[in-house]
Amino acid sequence: MYPLAEVIVDVPTMQTDQPFTYLIPADLQPVVKKGMRVEVPFGNGNRHIQGFVVDISETKTLDERLKPIVRLLDIAPVLNTELLALADYMKETTYAFKITCLQTMLPSVMKAEYKKTILLVDKKSEAAHYFPASGEIDYDEAQKNGHLPKLMKFRQAGIVDIRYEVHNKNRVKTVRMVKALVDAKKAEKIFPTLRKGSLRKAQLLEILAAQKEELPVKYFTALGLTTAHLNQGAKDGWLELFETETYRDPFAEHEFETTTNFVLNEEQEMAVAKILAAYKKKQAETFLLEGITGSGKTEVYLQAIQQVLKEDKTAMMLVPEIALTPQMVERFKSRLGDAVAVLHSGLSQGERYDEWRKIERGEAQVVVGARSAIFAPLENIGLIIVDEEHEATYKQEEAPRYHARDLAIWRSRYHKCPVILGSATPSLESRARAQKKVYTLLPLQKRANPNANLPTIEIVDLKDEYSKGNMTSFSLTLQEKMQDRLAKNEQIVLLLNRRGYSSFMMCRDCGYVLDCPNCDISLTLHMDTKTMRCHYCGHEEAIPHKCPECGSKKISYYGTGTQKVEAELQELLPEARILRMDVDTTRKKGAHEKILTTFGEKKADILLGTQMIAKGLDFPDITLVGVLNADTALNLPDFRSSERTFQLLTQVSGRAGRAQKAGEVVIQTFNPEHYAISLAKAQDYERFYQQEMRMRHQAGYPPYYFTVKLTVSHETEVQAAQKSFQLARQLQAALSPNALLLGPTPSAIMRIKNRYYYQIIIKYKNEPALKPLLEQILDESQIDQKKGLYVSIDNEPLNFI
Ligand code: ADP
Ligand code: ZN
Ligand code: ZN
Repeated sequence: MYPLAEVIVDVPTMQTDQPFTYLIPADLQPVVKKGMRVEVPFGNGNRHIQGFVVDISETKTLDERLKPIVRLLDIAPVLNTELLALADYMKETTYAFKITCLQTMLPSVMKAEYKKTILLVDKKSEAAHYFPASGEIDYDEAQKNGHLPKLMKFRQAGIVDIRYEVHNKNRVKTVRMVKALVDAKKAEKIFPTLRKGSLRKAQLLEILAAQKEELPVKYFTALGLTTAHLNQGAKDGWLELFETETYRDPFAEHEFETTTNFVLNEEQEMAVAKILAAYKKKQAETFLLEGITGSGKTEVYLQAIQQVLKEDKTAMMLVPEIALTPQMVERFKSRLGDAVAVLHSGLSQGERYDEWRKIERGEAQVVVGARSAIFAPLENIGLIIVDEEHEATYKQEEAPRYHARDLAIWRSRYHKCPVILGSATPSLESRARAQKKVYTLLPLQKRANPNANLPTIEIVDLKDEYSKGNMTSFSLTLQEKMQDRLAKNEQIVLLLNRRGYSSFMMCRDCGYVLDCPNCDISLTLHMDTKTMRCHYCGHEEAIPHKCPECGSKKISYYGTGTQKVEAELQELLPEARILRMDVDTTRKKGAHEKILTTFGEKKADILLGTQMIAKGLDFPDITLVGVLNADTALNLPDFRSSERTFQLLTQVSGRAGRAQKAGEVVIQTFNPEHYAISLAKAQDYERFYQQEMRMRHQAGYPPYYFTVKLTVSHETEVQAAQKSFQLARQLQAALSPNALLLGPTPSAIMRIKNRYYYQIIIKYKNEPALKPLLEQILDESQIDQKKGLYVSIDNEPLNFI
């Protein structure tokens, strides 16, 4: 019998989107397992690529054409049976290539990197001058010293060849350690033999004699000894140097105070009881924990997790974006201690890999992380939580376009354990499922802190402010209330809504707007770097002093950037200490946390920021929240804009009055009568849900319809448009009359990085023909790709524009 491995190779194309069979060489037979990464030859020549073993089988007769696996890249499987099955599910639901799904599940350091080496084939040829004795040159090296074009010519002539190898990046971090080989008694004997004045040697000997434990080299260097001293010590037989594996601990500098459980209130108690009942029955029940802001959802999560951990099960909690919720991490670490591993994008690749390894080895029982933490290799899961389940960050915008909430539910089914979707403002989709009893609704209707109440909310019509002659960003009402809080030494949070908004530059004489040369969008002003920048392609140029079109110097800056508002605010309230939080002030690692800590320590009065301040802040002295412009997002041509506006207003209002002191919120808007705003004022999610459901029903949008978005792109507009119309005809012919097509239309930003985008949205209820048709469309689009025409499919897109 010959053992074979089925391998998914790292070539993301339709033709290669299936397992390829390889022979397992004798020496690897005992060790190769499903879920391991391997290096395999692929195609012609010396090309080696990475692959994943997805199955192992045997054959009686050997097929001569089969090639053997070159080597193993892992000593243990990196994807277990569950995750391999999850990859299949993801592929089915997102129309992505299997290899893309598999790679997405692992820390990025485990993605293959390829090393190219140029080989000398004919040693007698003129090419030999370029090679050292080994007959090999690194490809990148050749590129750097300019020999590449010449060498490629030799390659065409067949006297030089290229070898492709997989380069494994996932290095474990090690530290150098010292083990003492002398004890006190031995040291006594050595001391007299030391030369006079060998102070360092004596010092080293002293430390070694006193130490039973192994010590890191750092310990010695901190005391003034050098590695030379240690090497000499090793030569003399006093000590042994060795490497030991270590984790990069991003929280090493952090001390977490331990906290104890609150006595749950009735609503919380009920929620925990129902969740644990499902857990005990080994039931994959989906709960929708709909709790107003400050109702103690986190406490419910924590106490439910504790129960699960007691029975040696594990738990996972997803949060929208961990960098934005340091308080959440703090609460988890302080309650659950070292059991918690944290995965998020703010970690370095190495740190992420280490956290992943900890989980994989079973050293962490609780995983807290952003979207991709859903792939954490936890075993024995007893509870899964998706906090702020309505957040758009749970959907990945590039392939595979998965929604972490769906995968959370899939994993809960696999482990037969409950999953909690938590939010103060659930997505319409989830709330509707709770309505239909597909999910179990768990309501939390009052604030958990018995002394806290929901804030009072006031709406200010900005149209009136303008007619009153107030041209600042702050209404008179808000100004008054801010003065009041400053006098009382209480804190203020101000939100500048940036969605659908940006600062651009325009000539007042000719109306010229500075646009990106590569995209159909105006450039955004960045005062910190004094540049105009494109948020889509990264194009950057200096701020012009005169109009590039007419030469006029009358240039105006439109849109209200946070910096501009900050300056305005400081002028209005000169004594106020203001902290600004936006993309510019939080670019550096840890900057976000630092701003929040400063604010938490009451070293500032006002926190002014974009959407990122709306989440997770829990500070007792915030008694005033101001929303400077509630409606910028309402004007976006997206059916979810009301939902998003309502969610944002509710989130940010929820920052006020979370403890004893009563909170107030001022919402400034041009559309006070819009239901998303008036119902946010009423703090009535349920009524918003009812009203929004009526709108969706009328217009035929989710959750009444399923949706798929097809996007076509090409360097020329005509080609993109033509292809999209052809697809529309193809869809129309195959689908039932109940399916509706929106488009084809140019995408909201038609040109990005010099490519044109056209889109079609399909709305449907029950179309068995759709899935095979979409697969066929993808298949056929392979030929178009050679012409630079790309088709992508987004199942249940979160953005329609
Ligand atoms: P949510 O996540 O729903 O916004 P939190 O879990 O942050 O709410 O709770 C809000 C505040 O109430 C927190 O400061 C928390 O410490 C406190 N809290 C939670 N549960 C209780 C309880 N049972 N008794 C008293 N205070 C509580
Ligand atoms: Zn001009
Ligand atoms: Zn651009």
